[in-house]
Amino acid sequence: MSCKELRDGIAAKEIKSVAATEAVFSAIDKYEPMVGAYISTFKEQALAKAKEVDGKIAAGEAVGELAGVPVAIKDNLCTTFGTTTCASKILENFHSPYNATVIEKLLAADAVIVGKTNMDEFAMGSSTENSGLKQTVNPWDTSRVPGGSSGGSAAAVAGRLCFAALGSDTGGSIRQPASLCGVVGLKPTYGRISRYGLVAYGSSLDQIGPVTRTVSDCALMMNVIAGHDEKDSTSVSESIAPVCNYLEKLDEPISGLKIGVVPEFVAGGEADVQKATAEAIEVYKKLGAEIVEIEMPHFDYAISAYYVIATAEASSNLARYDGVHYGHRTERPADYIEVYSKSRAEGFGKEVKRRIMLGTYALSSGYYDAYYLKALKVRNLIRGDFTRAFEKCEAILMPVSPTTAFRLGEKIDDPLQMYLSDVYTIAANLAGIPGISIPCGFDESGLPIGLQILAPAFAEEKLLRIARMFEMQTDWHQKKPAMPK
Ligand code: GLN
Repeated sequence: MSCKELRDGIAAKEIKSVAATEAVFSAIDKYEPMVGAYISTFKEQALAKAKEVDGKIAAGEAVGELAGVPVAIKDNLCTTFGTTTCASKILENFHSPYNATVIEKLLAADAVIVGKTNMDEFAMGSSTENSGLKQTVNPWDTSRVPGGSSGGSAAAVAGRLCFAALGSDTGGSIRQPASLCGVVGLKPTYGRISRYGLVAYGSSLDQIGPVTRTVSDCALMMNVIAGHDEKDSTSVSESIAPVCNYLEKLDEPISGLKIGVVPEFVAGGEADVQKATAEAIEVYKKLGAEIVEIEMPHFDYAISAYYVIATAEASSNLARYDGVHYGHRTERPADYIEVYSKSRAEGFGKEVKRRIMLGTYALSSGYYDAYYLKALKVRNLIRGDFTRAFEKCEAILMPVSPTTAFRLGEKIDDPLQMYLSDVYTIAANLAGIPGISIPCGFDESGLPIGLQILAPAFAEEKLLRIARMFEMQTDWHQKKPAMPK
């Protein structure tokens, strides 16, 4: 069942939330040792919430939009229950004193939170292999990565270990794992969702978003989490960009749709990815869309600009983990300098250290102009590419990832190869625009392929409708991994 079907079934008293939640936990008992999607689970608390929802419905009381639906959340979203680890040893025992706004919204919508999912440490990575706590594998092929950094969320949704999940996307971390795991993942416009309580990685790029099995479920999740929040000054006021009911017109196709494609991107990536992207374009043509060629002349510089800006922001954001303010403190420091240096040396993993050093270097006096400032200028040029492109079309199609799920260990010792996984996703974060990944086929080995659709800022309603048009024409989203009995 999708979230929507489950929610409607619970509301109609055809199924109990307790039964759905128990089913999720029996799937977790059975498959979690194999998939490794979760860092923590909350069985008792989830069943109590499910019972409460069933009780409210039995009593005819009003319930929220996700009433009784078991969902998972990425472990960089602060919760007052359990720990918020960011998959880092430095935060292994961190208990947040507050809930992230999206968590408050999920709870207010009567969702049942089943657990917190694994990720690359501090969301830095594209395979979840940088987790400092555990390994997650791809439910389609357990010798392969689930993608990252929201790999735990994508694997949990694909492996049917929850009905939907939240992830975060700084450079592709929702869309790329969604693509590699054959599920739907949306990175909303920067400012559409409150980041309050999302542990910061690259603050000007980070955005929370849903990972689901269908586009409709993605719209449903957006209804719950979108909107202005006075606790996050970068969340955009609804007088500027109103939040709408994303489900209301979802099934209405858009007529006269103009879709932009960059020919080099359609011809980029592995052969199977190229084929699936070209076939997806044909589907839209059949649906009456006009395909227009567009140019993205500055796209080639996106990865370089991103890895300067993201690491610069990360080096500043991660300064707070010093053994004093937050996180792990070394056992027997010789002096106070060692409190900082040893706590950080012991707590952070290799990739996080690499990025702190890169970012600190890029921001240091003498290099600031040459690297950081230049990267900001490139960012502006990329934004300009999109502005010009969207004068000619309403949405842009391209692959999500140049490859399907790669093997565990294949890229872990080659950071540049790993960074290239994000070649198609990063530009949307630099420009702040929304992007979605939807299932659009499989490669020769039976691994899922995702299609990326990008739209102008705050055009999520249209973006979801465009994605839904494809979903109604195809059945890729209905395929599921063959989990052992
Ligand atoms: N893979 C990119 C990185 O490592 C993006 C990660 C993300 O979106 N959080 O920075």
